[in-house]
Amino acid sequence: MVDAEIAVRPSLPIPNRRLLSYSMYAVVGLHAVLLIVARPHPLVASRLLTAIVPVLSAICAFVRAPLVAPRERPAWRWGGVAMLLWALGHTVETFVGHTTTVTNLAADPSDFIYIAGTFPLLLALSASRETKSIQTVFLLNCAQIGLAFVLTYVRLYQMTMPAATAATVMGRIYGIVCILMATLTALRMFTWATLEERRCVRWICIFIWTYTVIELGMNYATEYWHLQAGTLLDLLWSFPFVLCGRQTVYLPTEELPPGPPKKLSRFQLVVESLCPMLVTTAVFALAASITSQHAQLALTAIFLLLLIQGVVAGVVQSNYLTGQNLLLERERELQEANVALEQLSLLDPLTGIPNRRRFTAALDDAWRRAMRRQEPIAILMIDVDHFKGVNDRHGHTYGDECLVAIAQALGQHAGRADDLLARYGGEEFVLLLPEMDQASAVAVAERMHRAVHRLEIANNGSPFGSMLTVSIGVGTGLPRFDLHPATLIEVADQALYDAKRQGRNRIRIRALEEASTLQG
Ligand code: GH3
Ligand code: MG
Ligand code: MG
Repeated sequence: MVDAEIAVRPSLPIPNRRLLSYSMYAVVGLHAVLLIVARPHPLVASRLLTAIVPVLSAICAFVRAPLVAPRERPAWRWGGVAMLLWALGHTVETFVGHTTTVTNLAADPSDFIYIAGTFPLLLALSASRETKSIQTVFLLNCAQIGLAFVLTYVRLYQMTMPAATAATVMGRIYGIVCILMATLTALRMFTWATLEERRCVRWICIFIWTYTVIELGMNYATEYWHLQAGTLLDLLWSFPFVLCGRQTVYLPTEELPPGPPKKLSRFQLVVESLCPMLVTTAVFALAASITSQHAQLALTAIFLLLLIQGVVAGVVQSNYLTGQNLLLERERELQEANVALEQLSLLDPLTGIPNRRRFTAALDDAWRRAMRRQEPIAILMIDVDHFKGVNDRHGHTYGDECLVAIAQALGQHAGRADDLLARYGGEEFVLLLPEMDQASAVAVAERMHRAVHRLEIANNGSPFGSMLTVSIGVGTGLPRFDLHPATLIEVADQALYDAKRQGRNRIRIRALEEASTLQG
């Protein structure tokens, strides 16, 4: 239902699109002008302009989120949060920078924010088809991220290290985090389930790859070529954000028409089931990195991670079992409905007695059984006399009521378990009588004939006291291999024809032994 609603929804309104993308271009343009024209470079202004672009790009993601299917919204929002954190880190770095860094520590507050900025992206990438819609799993993932914040803080500010290491360690850690994220995102590209999920993962992938290349390149240039801030190269920082921001507002939001879920290969399944482990692995790595100086905290964090994973596995399992039970329940209901349908397809809707289809199947069985046991079999063809006149004179509804009453009366005389009374069609009934010789069949026919007579149903057009009567053709005999069961029907039909021809309201008999004559 939601998908159908999304399918007709347009992407972002054009004025909003233009406003957002043109503001990003304007900020970059202003930044370029500032870098070219203003000398000496106003460094703070330049850095602040760099920080504005990710904020605009994050707004693009937040604006897009409500337009897509609910299950895809968090990923866009987490992407936006990551960009906001990057902007915050950049701003904090502008004012605090490396100047206040304690000598034996590598990091300043901005580094903490930069690292923390990768966590929301991890959350966005770690949701799999299985876990995406489970609220508990989402909360547990948030708990892991909380743990990651604590461990990152300890890693950056509570660890002493040699001054030589301290000078470069932060850049290296951040570089490694970026490369890892880029690799993981590329892997995640293989496992998208919906079109919108593919758009979002591709968006994160493009961002991470362009950003990582720029980050590593700029780090290298700063370290080895002594690149200073304030050159046109500073514009490069804005590139990934402008690229993704523009993509966010211009990508369509329509979903594929609903169809069977995308089938995943074995490799894709492995990657997908590993995705929820991304957050855990990252937090585990953080915990491992502080073990040497904060063993207790590290062990507690690892214990908590195991606990969280255990609960996640339990929740997923219980969801799976609930789904299975629901499936079994549906299957049972379907089977019951099938049985009911099958039953219905064998009954005549007007009279409620078996129909011709059921009769034909029962005759086949009875015919084979009688042939094996060499027992006689009989059928009675019962046709209402002058029934057309009943409808014409008394109306169709009255005619229907007559048929129901006749079916009930006849049914009371089909007493044995294997006897089967069916409506053969129109105002014609048929009674199957297995293991029955001619004399007994005629006796049953007489009972049937009297039963209808006793109903005393009015038929003004009938020459028999204006009462409704029936003619009955009895077909009996010993089944033979060279005959088809339908032959017995033909025999009974011929007997019925005899009864009609000889004046109606009577019983006529024909034996199966005459069948060859009939067929010939
Ligand atoms: P005969 O004595 O030769 O059998 O004459 P008849 O009028 O009974 O025979 P015919 O086959 O000409 O007409 C059968 C009539 O049965 C025609 C049709 O209107 C009526 N009929 C068939 N099915 C139904 C039904 O379900 N309800 C009602 N009310 N009438 C039906
Ligand atoms: Mg009739
Ligand atoms: Mg008829």
